Amino acid sequence: MDLNPPAGVLPALAARTGVPLERLRHMTIAGQAPWLLDSLDREPAPGAAFDTYVHQGSVLLTAKERPRRQVPGWRAWLPTDPKRGPLRRACPTCQSTAAAATFGFSLISQVPLTLSCPHHGCHLEPAFGGLGAFVAWEKKGTRARAAPAAVVAMDARTHQALHTGTVTLPRRSVHVGVWCRLLRTLIDELSAPVSALRTRSHRPEFRRW
Ligand SMILES: [Zn+2]
Repeated sequence: MDLNPPAGVLPALAARTGVPLERLRHMTIAGQAPWLLDSLDREPAPGAAFDTYVHQGSVLLTAKERPRRQVPGWRAWLPTDPKRGPLRRACPTCQSTAAAATFGFSLISQVPLTLSCPHHGCHLEPAFGGLGAFVAWEKKGTRARAAPAAVVAMDARTHQALHTGTVTLPRRSVHVGVWCRLLRTLIDELSAPVSALRTRSHRPEFRRW
């Protein structure tokens, strides 16, 4: 339901709840295309989805310096294996202060795009649960832990992007589609082993963006 509900579900929900259809659509992963991800459809050729999404821009390394990888069947921010469920993470403060039977996993907590709760600035912690209901923490005795300031600042930008369509950076504004792709590009660049880099990167500052 959170990923891509059957066609008749959202209009029926809108009719029964009075919540506008567009808002309901925005509450699903499919409703975030083409900004959070290009599409939920099958990729046109094996490896095309990863290549298009991750290799469009560059942050720390130039396009030449980055090792190219083939990742067939890849979907941005979603598990490659469709049998694997979404991430289950929650904020301990949100969970403990929610009224009985009202707690659910937010859409954004189910994708590995942020690390902290936008309301409380604490780490999202691994949890079990399903059908919008919280069940238990993966680690017994989980308590709220404040996230580092840099994480909170980056996550605030990502939330701003998803809610307003734009991130305001010190020198420019960046469209949400560009922001999500640059974050994924950065992860790819940081995971590239130094031994795989074709040339040594001497300039670790932002180049293109
Ligand atoms: Zn919270």
